[in-house]
Amino acid sequence: MITVNERGFYGKFGGAYIPEMLHPNIEELVKNYLSIINEEGFQKEFRHLLTDYVGRPTPLYYASRLSEKYQTNVYLKREDLCHTGAHKVNNTIGQILLAKRLGKKRILAETGAGQHGVATATICALMGLDCVVYMGKVDVARQKPNVERMKLLGATVVEAVSGSQTLKDATNDAMRDWINNPEDTHYVIGSVVGPHPYPDMVAIFQSVISEEIKKQLAEKTGSQDPNYVLACVGGGSNAIGAFYHYVDNPNVKLIGLEAGGFGIDTDKTAATLTLGKEGVLHGSRSLVIQTEDGQVIEPHSVSAGLDYPGIGPAHAYLYKTAKADYFPITDAEALNAGFECSRLEGIIPAVESAHALAYLPKLKAKPEETVVINLSGRGDKDMKTYIEWFGSKD
Ligand SMILES: *Cc1c(COP(=O)(O)O)cnc(C)c1O
Repeated sequence: MITVNERGFYGKFGGAYIPEMLHPNIEELVKNYLSIINEEGFQKEFRHLLTDYVGRPTPLYYASRLSEKYQTNVYLKREDLCHTGAHKVNNTIGQILLAKRLGKKRILAETGAGQHGVATATICALMGLDCVVYMGKVDVARQKPNVERMKLLGATVVEAVSGSQTLKDATNDAMRDWINNPEDTHYVIGSVVGPHPYPDMVAIFQSVISEEIKKQLAEKTGSQDPNYVLACVGGGSNAIGAFYHYVDNPNVKLIGLEAGGFGIDTDKTAATLTLGKEGVLHGSRSLVIQTEDGQVIEPHSVSAGLDYPGIGPAHAYLYKTAKADYFPITDAEALNAGFECSRLEGIIPAVESAHALAYLPKLKAKPEETVVINLSGRGDKDMKTYIEWFGSKD
């Protein structure tokens, strides 16, 4: 398990660096989130929706052809089979159930790849709540199918037009909206980022992933501990979910794969842990890609879901304390790995998840070892990206 102290810190990372006007909202969450989440009635409703609405537990699938190719034992944790197509919905259900208990009527979200926006719009439709999703203009263009889905589900999609017009800018706009509407609105942050208690709250909701992996792996192999857990890292929520119950377990190596973009020696990258320096972004102290004088650098990744210059404070802590390792994966490596998984396993992964798959050749795991890869989402939303990349592959 990985938990925060009472002020929301993992070591020196985390906390709540927020404008005065957000204090009442954040205080309300800090005071109530753990007691609400631990209520029997809350757990019952949360677990019921995860089972019957999301389709959990998601399978832990032995990928025999990838295993054969890399001469080891590869299991894919199939978060791509969650309703709406990614792990994001686990958190969205948790936060919206919590918002309802706090009497909120209006839900805000930011989104990059659109997966979090779709998950939020979906649960708002299910629960009859108003939903506004902020999304960078660039992402609106490259994730069209998800924009259409959100609209069909009844959400209002607002384009963020400042900065690089991607996730960071959408997050800024969502926070501004929340400041202006503190009473009736809950802001559903889509990853383990933002001010305390978001990183901890989101990690708790996503921890169902490693809870299931332990049980499923024990059933399949006799041991609940794999040798490695691999996950892609944008803000870090699917990775924290997959790591959660393995942190400080000496038998299990935890490896996060971040978006290297064109490469970490170029300025077109989103490799936050590799290149970032300590700083405050969107309400918490973590590592941030920034210039010498603290200007946030516009990130780049082929995957909209990893195109973020910050990282959840828990990952900054795991990285600095060497409790987990993190490596950058380039756009090209990720797309090739996504293509390989499609051809070998008949599973088209999200380009984000393909970053985790891309580490398999570098890992050099032994034939008797077990590797769990968290397949965070499905690739339907990325068809345009794959087709552009492989254009004439056949
Ligand atoms: C959003 C997203 C990610 C990145 O977010 P994390 O919080 O780092 O998990 C990864 N994969 C998919 C499929 C996503 O939709």
